[in-house]
Amino acid sequence: MNDDGVLGGIHLPSDGSVNPTDLTQALAKGARMNGATIRENISFKEVLTKNGKIIGVSTEQGIISTDTVDNCGSMWARELGQQNVVSIPIHACEHYYLVAQPIPNLPSDLPALRSHYDGTYWKQDTSKLLFRFDNFKAKAGIPENFDFDSLPFVEEDMMEVLEMSMNRVPVLQENGIQTFFNGPESYSHDGRFNLGETPNLKGYFLLAGINSTGIQSGSGAEKALADWIMTGHPPMDSAEMDSARIEDWRARDIYWQEHCPQTLVLTYAMQWPRRQREKARNLRRTPFHHAMKAHGAVYDEVQGWECPAWFAPDVVFPESDYSFYRPSWLNYVQEEQKTVRGSVGIIDYSMLQKLLVSGRDAENFL
Ligand SMILES: Cc1cc2nc3c(=O)[nH]c(=O)nc-3n(C[C@H](O)[C@H](O)[C@H](O)COP(=O)(O)OP(=O)(O)OC[C@H]3O[C@@H](n4cnc5c(N)ncnc54)[C@H](O)[C@@H]3O)c2cc1C
Repeated sequence: MNDDGVLGGIHLPSDGSVNPTDLTQALAKGARMNGATIRENISFKEVLTKNGKIIGVSTEQGIISTDTVDNCGSMWARELGQQNVVSIPIHACEHYYLVAQPIPNLPSDLPALRSHYDGTYWKQDTSKLLFRFDNFKAKAGIPENFDFDSLPFVEEDMMEVLEMSMNRVPVLQENGIQTFFNGPESYSHDGRFNLGETPNLKGYFLLAGINSTGIQSGSGAEKALADWIMTGHPPMDSAEMDSARIEDWRARDIYWQEHCPQTLVLTYAMQWPRRQREKARNLRRTPFHHAMKAHGAVYDEVQGWECPAWFAPDVVFPESDYSFYRPSWLNYVQEEQKTVRGSVGIIDYSMLQKLLVSGRDAENFL
């Protein structure tokens, strides 16, 4: 590895690597040993409901009665969910990887290398180097009836990152690439799983939008889901992943189509505090939007709403800078805070969620 520009790193000696096919077979074997029946190549058609409750699922080979369903349909999960008005903002996105020609004497215990600066991830694979990378121009979508297949490998989409990779691991410059691969994986709108029971339909569970970590985290996530199904509540605080956080509009066009590929683009990007997404902005604005903009408002996205993060004075360019230290706009926020505390200010809270509590005991409850 060429260590030019490297300021530091973390070595995790306990890291492991696993063959996905063997892992899948091992999990299936474990499930069978514990009483599960696995049936393959049966198309699932729809979740059947009666009086707002799940009564079964229909498949091309008939109906299975059940009151609990787990939609793990990955990049097809959104379409499956739509049949029951369950919103799942995930999208298939292109995911590239390359395998270099065999390298003599490549150690079999070579640690996996992640270089966030170059957006690359490396590991040894039977005396070859396999590397995948951040696709700076991630594209969404798969052909209909896509099944165990690959997508076209567009060289110009990856030239920039390939050059960085060759510089970081120079052996590639002499060694050449054996395999170019582009396969789809599902990405969620915010880079987190859709896990747990959906609020729309009791008994309808989800585990989808794994954002290319399904091998490493699939087993743990499924365990959490299984515990949730058995006990009726999540086994730990899973609020960040909980499918209940998802409002229906997030799975609709523009927001869904633009945010999911951005999750892929940002996988290796610098995770600045308060980092904003540039795509699909200005979809929800309050009636005070323009008035506040005229006063220098710089907007952050909050639940899809444009929300003023701070107000730039006339001489300051209205754009947030990112920093792990003290960002330049903090002074203006402090001034505003002191003004509101010492005298008076008006804050637009239109974008916050409203809860309607109704019924006979509403007042007591509140
Ligand atoms: C190129 C590439 C490299 C990756 N590298 C890594 C890595 O290094 N580490 C890592 O942790 N992860 C990696 N991943 C991600 C990992 O492979 C996925 O996260 C994982 O396979 C997702 O598992 P899943 O069960 O959620 O979805 P899938 O494996 O996609 O399974 C979903 C299943 O649902 C089925 N289905 C859909 N609709 C229906 C229906 N109507 N009826 C019946 N069946 C249906 C599909 O046929 C499919 O079998 C990589 C992915 C790609 C593409």
